[in-house]
Amino acid sequence: MIKTQEKQVAIASVTAATQLCQRVRALKPSSTLHKADTSPVTVADFGSQAVICHALAEAFPHDPVIAEEDAFSLQKPESSIILAQITEQVQQILPQITPQDVIDSINWGNGKLAPRYWTLDPIDGTKGYIRGDQYAIALALVENGIIQLGVLACPALPSRSDGKQGVVFVGVRGHGSVEISLSTGKSQPIRVNAFNDTNQLRRIESVESAHSDRAVQNKIDEMLRWTQTPQQMDSQAKYGAVARGEADLYLRVPLPQFKAKKENIWDHAAGAIIVEEAGGKVTDLGGQPLNFSLGAKLSENNGILVSNGIIHQQVLDMIAQLDQS
Ligand code: AMP
Ligand code: MG
Repeated sequence: MIKTQEKQVAIASVTAATQLCQRVRALKPSSTLHKADTSPVTVADFGSQAVICHALAEAFPHDPVIAEEDAFSLQKPESSIILAQITEQVQQILPQITPQDVIDSINWGNGKLAPRYWTLDPIDGTKGYIRGDQYAIALALVENGIIQLGVLACPALPSRSDGKQGVVFVGVRGHGSVEISLSTGKSQPIRVNAFNDTNQLRRIESVESAHSDRAVQNKIDEMLRWTQTPQQMDSQAKYGAVARGEADLYLRVPLPQFKAKKENIWDHAAGAIIVEEAGGKVTDLGGQPLNFSLGAKLSENNGILVSNGIIHQQVLDMIAQLDQS
């Protein structure tokens, strides 16, 4: 079943959030806070979450949203300036919104797990966003552990149809994936690479070296006899690159010091369905499907393997071999 209303609301709200993020990025300098884990969070992370959660709360009041940010720090008196900046930005999209509504909308994203829920990363790749590189806005709908819809905006990624900056990838379970140009609204189906010659394939990885073990990745390149330098990109835009055939392999191998740290559902749900519906494959490093029915973390999975499908098993076998050595 195509979820027409869900798809419309998700695309419209993510697109509105894209405008907010791009506008805030053009205003320099903009305020940045640091979370307990020292990772940065900006006016745009909060504003994007407020805009999208506001739309979801209105259209689907019974669906919980599990999103990355919460408004706890914004409720402190010392955050009044940043809260005013966020409110001003959100008002460009929702003119009637008050600072308290902004807080309530952000906190709407702290929903509890249910058989049907949404998961949102209002800015995935915040470090890339601040650096002026790639970032994404990632929203997915999960029902009974199965991702049914993924909407992934990549405002700094060129569109295939017109070469202009900004695309939204959309994947609907059973109905394929498309990319929509943010400039023209033109939509076109996307597919992963179907090359049989594995020498022609390419790997993509995070810009941040702490997010995956490069020593393991390099060993896999050697085993595949790949000599090309992998492309580096922040955020789930990497899933978009695999889904539209610009890359074929994307690994997240936890570094030894982060073995206990589990991946967040909002960092993978939207990207995963878009790759799968474009003909690719997504599992963990042991070949297990990603389990989206456990809460905010992929607590039963170890690492991530995203591929065009063709080389998936071959790479899983290599990882198993490296584990034994
Ligand atoms: P990327 O831009 O693909 O490198 O991924 C960005 C995401 O990496 C952020 O949304 C974080 O949730 C996540 N992240 C932060 N630290 C780590 C880590 N040590 N290992 C894996 N992912 C991480
Ligand atoms: Mg993220």
